[in-house]
Amino acid sequence: MKIADQWFRDILGLLYQRRTATRGEIIHSTGLNPACVSLTIQHLLKSGTIQCVGERRSTGGRKREVLKLNSEAGYFVVVDLEGTRVRVGLADFLGNIRYRWEEEIDLRQQYDVRRVLKGVEMIRRSLEGPARRRLIAAGVSYTGLMDQQGRVTAVNLGWKDYPLRRSIEESLAMPVFYANDGHCKILAERWGGVAENCPNCVYILAGVGIGIGCFVDGHLLEGHDGMAGELGHLTMNHSPGDRCNCGKTGCLEAIVSSPNIVRQYLELSGRPAEDPRGHPVTEVFAMAREGDSDALAVMDRAGRALGLALSHLVNILNPQLIVLGGDLIHGHDLLLSIIREELARHCAPKLADHLILRVSSLGHDGGLKGAAALAFLNSSQDRALLRRMTGPAPPEDSPGEGRTKEPLTVKLKIGGLRRKKKGLITS
Ligand SMILES: [Zn+2]
Repeated sequence: MKIADQWFRDILGLLYQRRTATRGEIIHSTGLNPACVSLTIQHLLKSGTIQCVGERRSTGGRKREVLKLNSEAGYFVVVDLEGTRVRVGLADFLGNIRYRWEEEIDLRQQYDVRRVLKGVEMIRRSLEGPARRRLIAAGVSYTGLMDQQGRVTAVNLGWKDYPLRRSIEESLAMPVFYANDGHCKILAERWGGVAENCPNCVYILAGVGIGIGCFVDGHLLEGHDGMAGELGHLTMNHSPGDRCNCGKTGCLEAIVSSPNIVRQYLELSGRPAEDPRGHPVTEVFAMAREGDSDALAVMDRAGRALGLALSHLVNILNPQLIVLGGDLIHGHDLLLSIIREELARHCAPKLADHLILRVSSLGHDGGLKGAAALAFLNSSQDRALLRRMTGPAPPEDSPGEGRTKEPLTVKLKIGGLRRKKKGLITS
């Protein structure tokens, strides 16, 4: 019997999400025939893609092997092009970040993405020969909006139609998968964060900009062009003072993003001419905690605007969980109760009753971990890469980055199991 690609995908996807599973659990969760599961597991154990890490005994005394992905079965280069810094890392097959390189962005200059090459080179050098041959693909988390040609507009990186895809392709001779930061963050939270296995959840990335990532009924919400979730540009009011990077006024981002919280504080405290970039947002949080009335007023306005915007999202998507991430988590003690109040006030009756609001626990690696999940899930959808993920280790004399010589770039195609609706993913 020949092993179908889909059996590999189902089993790898399940082990990626659940970390460990017995043969019986795999059969139950995937709905695959027991003989197909046995054959596929046998192959994956032999190739070293998965490992048996223990056993569980049932009440009848039967032993059940506990299976897990082998962390050394493959590696991914992961890149996080965040608003204020750029991080490059090496993720193992389980998504653990094994190596990091990062640099701060000079906000006065356009960031040249070819600089990440330096980080990628250091990663390559950190890998021993056999591991280097197991580099499979790269995942890139970017801030801003990407068009069909792979050009990104991101004000914080000084990019307007910046040819990100072309520049990355010139730098990385391996398949590359892209998703915006909100989408990557929710992938990371769902896999190993506070949203683990939650089918209906929203991640709100509130920092230099505002972005979101949404899982709806177990599918990542991508939208027609992969741009779903521009919550930051919901118009909240038309006050001419709240000018947004997008060119409009009154956007959520113009009220709630960290530079705008600082801006409003400087304006209220009579220092409108100062550059908000000279003050970290945590200064405003500290002033509010000390009872400074201007700082408290700004935090109140930001919390209410964010709560109102989230209530629109809750009314539409009915999530079980909202995860707050980005710079604003450092002010969560000031914001969460206000957000909860606004959710209770503006959500349709009962929609907010069981809604959980939590703070992200992923820290600085969230973007890299999301890029790792993106690369893993997409690679398993690609036939050639699936072969690499499930095949034996490449021989000693195989060339550099292994079996892929031609750069192959695929825009956000996160796969999971793309079965039900176009444009949505399952994990
Ligand atoms: Zn805007």
